[in-house]
Amino acid sequence: MEALKQRIQRDGKIRGNNEVLKVDSFLNHQMDVAFLEEIGREFRRRFAGCQVDRILTIEASGIGIACLAAPAFDHVPVVFAKKNKTKNIDGNVYLSQVESFTQGKRPYPIFVSKEFLHPGERVLLIDDFLANGSALSALIDLVHQAGAQVVGAGIVIEKAFQPGGALIRGKGVRVESLARIESMDEEDGITFCD
Ligand code: 5GP
Repeated sequence: MEALKQRIQRDGKIRGNNEVLKVDSFLNHQMDVAFLEEIGREFRRRFAGCQVDRILTIEASGIGIACLAAPAFDHVPVVFAKKNKTKNIDGNVYLSQVESFTQGKRPYPIFVSKEFLHPGERVLLIDDFLANGSALSALIDLVHQAGAQVVGAGIVIEKAFQPGGALIRGKGVRVESLARIESMDEEDGITFCD
């Protein structure tokens, strides 16, 4: 998505040993709603003709993106996997583990109530970044536990120099990333895959 690549070039800040991209001005802190609506329509174009019953994302940064994409998918319900609130977890949830990229290496639990994912449903996963693939792997696991089907994953920014894309595509899941970063470097800047 050309407009996204331009926005990343203009506003993206490279941090953390050239591994972390900050896009706080439009995606992760301040949210450019009109632009995110356009991103939602692009996800619909990429998954044209696919039946989607529900969108599943993960708190917190996926929520706004998923909610602004939902109108392009006939306003299907958006469900977000919750993190870490062990006190509230009872037997009525699907539970998985994520190895956090931004919060260090310790795995943390995520869960979705069984009320909001059902057998046979076709679920589209949406998230802001794909890096090592841990968050998406856990979401896929939740969908499978529910006996539902993964339609695919819509990702805003894939850091293609990290292993997540290959990991998730290797599971047979269709991944549509709107911008794929081949490399990024504080001195040389950002290069996209295509
Ligand atoms: P993964 O599980 O694929 O390693 O990481 C995905 C999650 O980590 C995303 O949900 C995202 O919130 C966060 N993340 C990974 N890499 C980046 C990055 O470069 N910048 C930001 N802002 N978040 C990232």
